[in-house]
Amino acid sequence: MAKIIWEPSRTFGEFLLLPNLTKRIHRPADVDLTTPLVKFKKGEKPKLSLTIPFASAIMQSVSGVDMAVALGGFGGIAFIFCSQTVEDQAKMVAAAKAKKVLVGAGVNTHDYKERIPPLVTAGADVLCIDSSDGFSEWQADVIKFVRDKYGDKVKIGAGNIVDARGFDYLVKAGADFIKVGVGGGSICITREQKGIGRGQASALLEVVDTRNKHFEKTGVYMPLCSDGGVAFDNHAIIALAMGADFLMMGRNFARYHESPSKLVTINGKHFKEYWGEGSARAQNWQRYGKENSNAKLVFEEGVDSYIEYAGKLEDGLAKTLSKIKATMCNCGSLNLAEFTKTATLTVVSKASLTEGGAHNVVVKT
Ligand code: IMP
Repeated sequence: MAKIIWEPSRTFGEFLLLPNLTKRIHRPADVDLTTPLVKFKKGEKPKLSLTIPFASAIMQSVSGVDMAVALGGFGGIAFIFCSQTVEDQAKMVAAAKAKKVLVGAGVNTHDYKERIPPLVTAGADVLCIDSSDGFSEWQADVIKFVRDKYGDKVKIGAGNIVDARGFDYLVKAGADFIKVGVGGGSICITREQKGIGRGQASALLEVVDTRNKHFEKTGVYMPLCSDGGVAFDNHAIIALAMGADFLMMGRNFARYHESPSKLVTINGKHFKEYWGEGSARAQNWQRYGKENSNAKLVFEEGVDSYIEYAGKLEDGLAKTLSKIKATMCNCGSLNLAEFTKTATLTVVSKASLTEGGAHNVVVKT
């Protein structure tokens, strides 16, 4: 008989943090958001780290050269999308590297043997396998290819997985970081279409617990990237409190000027286009490109949408980072490791969600 998990699959919006004692030393200006990007041994420093815990999604509508330069300038990282020809992707990586920022590149499990070498030559600092199902032998094959060709010199993240079994599999396969999340993306219809996925908070909590036990047992710390479903800044804060080392976001970054998508005006309001990698729009490159010209899209796992334009990344991101630092001080922490170690979270009821916003007042507009 199928195994049933009766505990409901939960999302970030169902949790709140309780404050810890804020001491005089807890000042937002002194909060350090540095976080590891790749695995490292206890007592050693990771070979690559970020100074803000954010990565932009491996998506056509999110991570191009301008996003890589802007987000990299803040200390985060963009993963340049792989749903384009190898030549075009390598050109983008090289162009972003010319501004001397940390640049990531997405790879897939199909053409990795042809794609990875030019990306490495172009200067990609880290690779990441882009797939909604990371618990797969195809991912182990990609990692093996990298290890055989480059040893530990080339770093590669893998995913996405949602439980301890997926985590253990990718650790054994040799991943440098692991991405968590299936079906939580704002443009994602995977759960609707295929009946597969898990609430992002439930997935993250199980994998963090497994990762922590793995660290205690082996002394190897495996960074976790929570991918998808961060709709608001409070979701990002909850994800970090739950133990994500960094967050991959699509919608949040696609809103900004620096994303590669078109700015459109509808009824006097500004929007950016935002489409899923599993949408027909994103998949067209394969059908009309030279490679994989026989590939056919059987069904879609993503939608094509509009999102409200949010101006320049530097303004919006500065506000997001201020909120994270302020909450960390409320919770008595000056760095992310301390934050997750000491955090107390509570599940909220539907009624208390109403209480959490402005209520019983007429808000002036
Ligand atoms: P968001 O930050 O909630 O918008 O989610 C972005 C994430 O959704 C990406 O990083 C991918 O993991 C995932 N994603 C991107 N395109 C698709 C799609 O077409 N279908 C399902 N998931 C997708």
